[in-house]
Amino acid sequence: MSNLPASGKGLLFVMSGPSGTGKGTICGELIKSGNIFLSVSSTTREKRKGEIDGVTYNYTTVDEFEKMIAGGEMLEYAKYGDNYYGTPKKTVTEMLAAGKNVLLEIEPQGAALVKSKMPEAVLLFILPPSARELKKRLCERGRESDEEIAKRLQAAGWELSQAPLYNKMFVNDDLGECVERVGEYISEKTRERAFLDNLIEELQDI
Ligand code: 5GP
Repeated sequence: MSNLPASGKGLLFVMSGPSGTGKGTICGELIKSGNIFLSVSSTTREKRKGEIDGVTYNYTTVDEFEKMIAGGEMLEYAKYGDNYYGTPKKTVTEMLAAGKNVLLEIEPQGAALVKSKMPEAVLLFILPPSARELKKRLCERGRESDEEIAKRLQAAGWELSQAPLYNKMFVNDDLGECVERVGEYISEKTRERAFLDNLIEELQDI
């Protein structure tokens, strides 16, 4: 019971899955509901075409990133490829304290760190329908070089091996259906927590 957040706090959801599974699109759809806030990560990787500083990521230098780590400003961080990626603690903590649900879209090393610090976090893993489809999606989106695609496919093996540590897995076969299933799961967890918080509050008045 000591790990339960105090009444009125939001829930923290963490989403992972190999590059190309469609997590980014799923998160984009989920936040349209207005029931969940997507945390903006910091990264040292180069900004890609179409990405917006402060919206897609906060783009920083390695020096700045390492200063944030040293200053204890990161809830979690990891190296993915040659770059740092991390979740700044401040906004997440503030949103949760204000009763808002927060969603992190991060890779499994970071997800494990979050779970160790905040065991009540709900971890969601997005799976591709097949390995062939994963490769096809990575190639078709045309964002990465052939070399980067090969690296991401190689990383996918380890990432998939971490999926059993998550609370729930979802196969992204049909995007609309997957968004609906994830959204319903988030609502269910939110309702559960509200019920529990109410019970705890009621007990104090008995
Ligand atoms: P991309 O370069 O494709 O935007 O992201 C590469 C990987 O880094 C993805 O698996 C993504 O989920 C992960 N990632 C993005 N932000 C964070 C973060 O703040 N922390 C961690 N640990 N991983 C992140």
